Amino acid sequence: MRIILLGPPGAGKGTQAKSLAQELNLPHISTGDILRQNVKEQTELGKAARDFMDKGLLVPDQLMAEMLKQRFNQTDTKKGFILDGYPRNLNQAETLERLLSQRNTDINLVVYLDTSDGVIIQRLTGRLVCNVCAANFHIKNMPPKVKGACDSCSGELIQRSDDTEETVKMRLEVYKKEISPLLEYYAAKKKLYRLSADEEQDLVLSKIIHLAQVCNDSLKV
Ligand code: AMP
Repeated sequence: MRIILLGPPGAGKGTQAKSLAQELNLPHISTGDILRQNVKEQTELGKAARDFMDKGLLVPDQLMAEMLKQRFNQTDTKKGFILDGYPRNLNQAETLERLLSQRNTDINLVVYLDTSDGVIIQRLTGRLVCNVCAANFHIKNMPPKVKGACDSCSGELIQRSDDTEETVKMRLEVYKKEISPLLEYYAAKKKLYRLSADEEQDLVLSKIIHLAQVCNDSLKV
């Protein structure tokens, strides 16, 4: 199965995508995580992307397309994937469709996680991320057991450089400009389902799993 999770920054796409990937035994492809890894390792891609990321802007489509192509060339994606953070605009959606059709496949399901602005800003400005395994915590909503340390791997918890209030507002603005055409694109293909991500994480996850199961069953018919 090939599933896309769409939604504003802070909708919980990353957390949901990780759990869903585990549940369905599929790779989780987070374009944000791949970019952050490249920034950390100071690769050419990382150097080219860093400024855009720090400003809350989109990394140019061409760089993203090349990055995704390389990821799809890895064999684990043959059985499917959970895509998180891509596409961000119509051009990227068309690139994705092209890359997949070259592999005689297509997206099966697109889940849109809808969230209100207040919830987003509160979630992101309080978010803590493990510097080692990328697990997410929150200062108030989900504090780690030991202050500053990841529950799973004891790695250092940091605030992402683009999780400041100013950058979050810019990321939201960029997101709002691009999302409508993207939603229309997948709605027209009858692949789009909307869920409220303001609800409890586990409840949202169970709804996504249900959608994936229904979609998977219909593929077998
Ligand atoms: P995320 O972790 O998905 O919130 O992404 C963090 C940042 O990485 C974004 O604000 C963008 O600067 C960049 N980024 C991630 N995915 C994409 C994408 N599909 N297209 C362009 N930029 C992206």
